[in-house]
Amino acid sequence: MNVYWKHWLFILIYALSMMGVAQENIRQIAITIDDLPLVRGRTAERMQRITKGLLDNLQQHKAPAIGFVNERKLGEPEAQPAQLALLQQWLDAGMDLGNHTYSHPSFYRTPLEEYQAEVLRGEKETKKLLAAAGKEMRYFRHPYLNTGPELAVKSAFEAFLKEHSYTIAPVTIDNEEWIYAQAYDKANDDAERQKVGEDYLRYMAEVFDFYEKLSRDLLGYEPPQILLIHANSLNADYLGKLCEMMVERGYQFVSLDAALQDKAYQHEDNYVGRSGISWLQRWRITRGEEFLPEPTSPEWLKTLARS
Ligand SMILES: [Zn+2]
Repeated sequence: MNVYWKHWLFILIYALSMMGVAQENIRQIAITIDDLPLVRGRTAERMQRITKGLLDNLQQHKAPAIGFVNERKLGEPEAQPAQLALLQQWLDAGMDLGNHTYSHPSFYRTPLEEYQAEVLRGEKETKKLLAAAGKEMRYFRHPYLNTGPELAVKSAFEAFLKEHSYTIAPVTIDNEEWIYAQAYDKANDDAERQKVGEDYLRYMAEVFDFYEKLSRDLLGYEPPQILLIHANSLNADYLGKLCEMMVERGYQFVSLDAALQDKAYQHEDNYVGRSGISWLQRWRITRGEEFLPEPTSPEWLKTLARS
C-alpha cells in the first residue's frame, strides 16, 4: 500500500511539474510594424528591398504581422501605384494592415478634431486595398504611442474610434529599435552596420527580459505580448534573427486579433502624458505605481544615429 501511494504521488508531482514547464514555455507574441510603406527613403529600389526583406522574414517564421500605414507616404496629393503595390504585397503575403493616421502627428500637440480628420484621411487607400482582399480596416495605432494630452480628450477620441469601428492596437514591448534603425542607416560600412545589427539583437533580448518580468510582477503572468517595430532597413535585414531570438525564448507568433483576446487587454488605462509608453507601464501607472525605467540603447549608438 505504502509503495503504491508513493508511486501515485510521484506521478502527480511529475504531472504538475510538467504542466508548469509547459505553461512557462508557451509564450505568444504579435508583431506589429509601423510607418508603412517604410520609414525613410523613397527610391523604388529601397522601397522594394525593405518590403521584400520584411515580408520574407515574416513568412519564413510563419509570423502573422500587421503593418500600420501612413497614407501620406503613398504620395501627395495622390497615392502612387508603386507605393500602393507595396501595401498590396503585404496583403498578398497574408499580413493585415491598419491605420496610423495620414501624416503621423503627435496627439499631444494636435487638437482633437484635427487628429480625428487625420484618421479619416489616413484610411482611404488602405480601406480599398483591404476590401479588395476581402478584409476590413479594424485597427488604429497612435503615432509615437501618444494617446492624448488629457483624459477627457483621450476618452473623446476613443469614442470616435469606436464609432468608426476601430480597435486600438496597444503595444506591450515598446523599445528603442527606431534609434538602432537610424544608426543602421547612418553606418559607414558593412562592419559598422553589422555592429549595430548585432547590438540590436542583444538590446532586444534585454528589452524582452524587462517586459516579461514587468508582466509577471504586474499581472501574475505573461499575456500574449505585442511588439512594436518599424518598416526600415534594419528589420529588412535583422527581423529573421529577431524572430529566431523570440522562438528561442519560447514564443509562438500570433495575430494581433488573437493576442487581444487575452483579459490583460481589458485592463483600465488612465495614463495620459507626453511620453508614448508601453501599455504594461500604463496599467502600472493606472494602479498608482510609478513608471519603471526601461533598458536603453548605448551612447555610441545614439551618437551614430544623430550623426
Ligand atoms: Zn509611427
